Amino acid sequence: MIILHSFSRFRMNQQLETWQALESVRESFRVVDAFLVDEQDYDKALKDVWGQGDLIVVEQDVVPALEMVESLFGCDKPWCIFDYEIRYMDDKNPPFYPQTGLGLTKFSCDAQRVSASEKWFGSGSWFNLDGRITGALVQAGYRPHVHGKVKHNRIVDWTGKTK
Ligand SMILES: [Zn+2]
Repeated sequence: MIILHSFSRFRMNQQLETWQALESVRESFRVVDAFLVDEQDYDKALKDVWGQGDLIVVEQDVVPALEMVESLFGCDKPWCIFDYEIRYMDDKNPPFYPQTGLGLTKFSCDAQRVSASEKWFGSGSWFNLDGRITGALVQAGYRPHVHGKVKHNRIVDWTGKTK
């Protein structure tokens, strides 16, 4: 069981709660922190831990409580998620729950085998990494098992830009 916590230098103030929450997670689980600089770094970091056992992905602005992590690792479903809300700064668009993002997600070994293709894994952009992985799972007939909601500290501007 591995937890990959990816983070960048962007929006550091929205990452503080994540680091705090991970402190108690680290007492029970192996957490790999991946500092992402280049566009392909997320792909590379995931590829490094892919296929080594059940894997949980934690993105920099979700707040994973220890019991959330335990419920994901304790579940025998292949693809498990916590819903997280995406809010917009200007309130013109209603918040939504992507479900196919990677925010706080568990992939079993089976799900990892199904979803990553050697053709693209390891060299693509972080921008569509979630779509490549979860798209392959959906295509193979998998659906995410929703465990609840996790706090998400990111608010996007109306264009959905992330930089
Ligand atoms: Zn589950």
